[in-house]
Amino acid sequence: MSTRILVVEDEEKLARFIELELIHEGYDVDKAGDGRVALDKATQENFDLILLDIMLPGLNGLEVLRRLSKDNPTPVILLTARDAVMDKVAGLDAGAVDYITKPFAIEELLARIRVALKLHGRQLNANIAAQGPADSREEGIYTWNGVVLDEKKHKVTYNGQEIPLTNREFLMLETLLSNKDIVLSRDTLLEKVCGYDYVGETNVVDVYIRFLRTKIDETFGIKMIQTVRGVGYVIKSE
Ligand code: CA
Repeated sequence: MSTRILVVEDEEKLARFIELELIHEGYDVDKAGDGRVALDKATQENFDLILLDIMLPGLNGLEVLRRLSKDNPTPVILLTARDAVMDKVAGLDAGAVDYITKPFAIEELLARIRVALKLHGRQLNANIAAQGPADSREEGIYTWNGVVLDEKKHKVTYNGQEIPLTNREFLMLETLLSNKDIVLSRDTLLEKVCGYDYVGETNVVDVYIRFLRTKIDETFGIKMIQTVRGVGYVIKSE
């Protein structure tokens, strides 16, 4: 079965251009030029990935994303205007797996799509693994001072309270927790979290670290992730 992508973009020429390129790459494509139509399609049909413009009539892309994200397993890549830094941060926070700034080279968009699809595959595998036998659960569990990351359940808790994380935040925390006391460079973390062929900026790592600190360190008043200046990040043993 071929991979289905929903292209949400109100600029018709751009939408058509992306559609043709994606079809050329062998993807199945559907389009929506309005936020409400996009939300309907995304909730009623199955897509492997959604490309979502932020500035849209009907509902804007961030609103579509927020309404979708709750139980939405489909990776979303945002199309953002240049310099819309807050949109990018808000979008990643709302569950987008990546963003690309307009105007973009089509090769870059295609590379981001491949990475997002690969990441999503990993999440599916994790979900399948979560249904495995209970007695082998211990091996995928990492802990730090009340923080418990269960790899197979794809779940993180603090003193039993669940912490909702996006897929990349989870991968970032998993990488740090499974390498306790080892200082990991931004490059290493980027590679683990975004894949070898990621073509974006390494400061994406800092963005995810900030999200993790907001969701865990600041929420619970703990200091889990340490910055090692000029090197990277580490979680030290309790
Ligand atoms: Ca637009």
